[in-house]
Amino acid sequence: MTSRGVVVIGASAAGVAAVEGLRRLGYGDRIVLVGDEPHLPYDRPPLSKQLLSGEWDRDKVQLRTAAAYEELGVELRLGTAAGSLDVAGHRVGLADGTVLGYDHVVVATGVRARTLPGTEGIEGVHVLRTLDDALALTAELAARPRLVIVGGGFIGAEAAAVASGLGCAVVMVTDQRVPLADAVGADIGGMLTEAHRGHDVRMETEALVEAVVSDGSRATGVKLADGRILRADAVLIGIGARPNVEWLKGSGLAVGNGVLCDATLCAAPDVWAAGDVASWPDLVTGDRLRIEHRTNASEQGLAVARNILAGPGEASAFTSVPYVWSDQYDMKIQIYGRTRGADAVRIVDGDLASREFTALFGRDGRVTAAVGVNMARSLRALRPLVADRTDWATVPVAA
Ligand code: NAP
Repeated sequence: MTSRGVVVIGASAAGVAAVEGLRRLGYGDRIVLVGDEPHLPYDRPPLSKQLLSGEWDRDKVQLRTAAAYEELGVELRLGTAAGSLDVAGHRVGLADGTVLGYDHVVVATGVRARTLPGTEGIEGVHVLRTLDDALALTAELAARPRLVIVGGGFIGAEAAAVASGLGCAVVMVTDQRVPLADAVGADIGGMLTEAHRGHDVRMETEALVEAVVSDGSRATGVKLADGRILRADAVLIGIGARPNVEWLKGSGLAVGNGVLCDATLCAAPDVWAAGDVASWPDLVTGDRLRIEHRTNASEQGLAVARNILAGPGEASAFTSVPYVWSDQYDMKIQIYGRTRGADAVRIVDGDLASREFTALFGRDGRVTAAVGVNMARSLRALRPLVADRTDWATVPVAA
């Protein structure tokens, strides 16, 4: 029987890493990369940073040129969503009616931005997930609007930094007591909050946004659960994301909060998942993880390529030390490991007041994460402590 090759569904960081990994590791058969957006695969981290600020143009966010995919011998099917997966028949159905047979399929369909109900079609309301989202928001910011940002996560914090830098009056509304506390803990979250305030971003914490208010066509503000209205010319909603798994309904795959895989990122025979959409049991902690960060996407795309080539029964469990970075004002924030659920935090180098420090996070007597601001080298030295889950009792104390 002739090879039907590998079909990768999702043309973003994980999907591109999978196709490149396959070729680099010697795979010579057909590879098809399917994406629902019309654009060549692009990188997402700059969307809320360099693209939004105008420092980079849209060409610079492309992951590879069209010529590079040709050289790799990868067939691109862009602007076409996948609509169905037949696991037993080894076939993927695309929205344009094409049916692709496969030997292996990689599901890398990512996540989409959550939004507030009732905001569809209201001008001036934005999310920030895709290149088109980022271009629309960039164009909006050119008029220096009063911007209300709903959500105090990474999208909200990065967009607040860019928009205030451009001269917009920015209000960030979050239902948390301390923005970003989920990701970096209350103390570092508090320091970041002060940094935003220092750049004239108004912070509305412990405030739930109920709805966007409009004049019938355009957003004029947001309504909070306590009844207050915050006036705005534009609203950015950054309240998290949902995995794109609906198209897999009827496939027989276990889906829920992502595509449920085993530890090797295998979801069913010859079906793999990678990136934001993949949920897998972490062998070290026993936790089921799904990680929405850029480095994880590349690492998992490559891991799936390796496992496809390893052959039946030879796939390896995916393990990594997760890595996240965020740029806000003059701060580069970097995180190794997982901070959530930490029961201990210790500054190891520098201090919060100077906004130059590294800190370790621990849980149940083990190091689980390291966080640094503007201290890349010192932070890298802490990575092995995270990787080894070092005994908390032995971690260094700041001099
Ligand atoms: P996020 O990090 O999950 O943060 C969303 C925040 O919005 C949460 O704090 C959430 O609080 C809050 N929220 C939810 N509903 C709200 C409401 N009605 N009113 C006020 N606040 C509300 O999501 P995100 O910032 O939208 O980012 C989306 C994904 O992209 C995330 O996975 C993020 O990690 C990723 N991303 C990463 C980077 C980076 O790595 N540098 C940059 C951008 C985006 P609750 O938790 O209490 O609901």
